[in-house]
Amino acid sequence: MEKKDANKFILDSHSHVQFPAYDEDREEVMSRAKEAGVKMLAVGTQISTSESAIQLAHKYPEDAWATVGYHPNHVVVRSDQGGGATNAWYHDKNEQNSAEPERFDIERLRDLAKDPKVVAIGECGLDYYRLTTDNQQLTTTKELQREVFLRQVELANELGKALMIHCRPSKGTDDAYQDLLNLLTTNNLQLTTIVHFYVGGLEITKQLVEAGFYFTFGGVITFARDYDDSIKYIPLDRILLETDCPYVAPKSQRGKRNEPSFILETAEKLAEMKGVSLEKTIEQTYANSAEVFEL
Ligand SMILES: [Zn+2]
Repeated sequence: MEKKDANKFILDSHSHVQFPAYDEDREEVMSRAKEAGVKMLAVGTQISTSESAIQLAHKYPEDAWATVGYHPNHVVVRSDQGGGATNAWYHDKNEQNSAEPERFDIERLRDLAKDPKVVAIGECGLDYYRLTTDNQQLTTTKELQREVFLRQVELANELGKALMIHCRPSKGTDDAYQDLLNLLTTNNLQLTTIVHFYVGGLEITKQLVEAGFYFTFGGVITFARDYDDSIKYIPLDRILLETDCPYVAPKSQRGKRNEPSFILETAEKLAEMKGVSLEKTIEQTYANSAEVFEL
């Protein structure tokens, strides 16, 4: 049957077009995205980048939405919060002009989350990848990440928003995914949960699919084959596309600053891996996004 109204847009479900990495040429990046039929979520990582995500979504109301959240790499115990730093504040010049740590402020996040352009809470979650191997510090940092994450889970639950999750295990393991699953299932919450930049192995993937999670995949699937088993296992109606720009550009653009208009290459690779047409892949992934973010 002819589907004349088939959606031809792609949603970049996890971008950071509000970051300083685009301050010089954001207008051009946005018009290249429009040309390519790509709409996007601008994902916040702390208060300042959540605010700029909302500003961007209001500036481009037809093409962009925002999320607000506090990334686990930004979780630190500062001396003025009653402790020594247990986790180096992660400063990335693409992300923030200032290296100054921000305080986690759930009230401020709640205010921001009430903006009508905000469709999810996050990115938030657990990141064990950069953690110290010092046992005492490790425990403290993990506890702190968990607490900051759970406050945001509660907020998403309270406001009925989806959860945009950043979850990165320590090298060669699925430890953070297992903790994530335990945290979210023991609390018996009815949340729509999207795990971005998913890199889990097949066993944990089966459990997360069973638990109702959604997954986003980006440029990395165009050049790394480590995720093939998981991608083949996850049903297409649980998969969303992302760029995670400015990071991890797809194969043909490797090493360059990534941007939403590059997402088509990832869609093509996903279509090939799933053995379905590009058209069907675009249509289904957009439908998934529209459903989970209530676009
Ligand atoms: Zn991100």
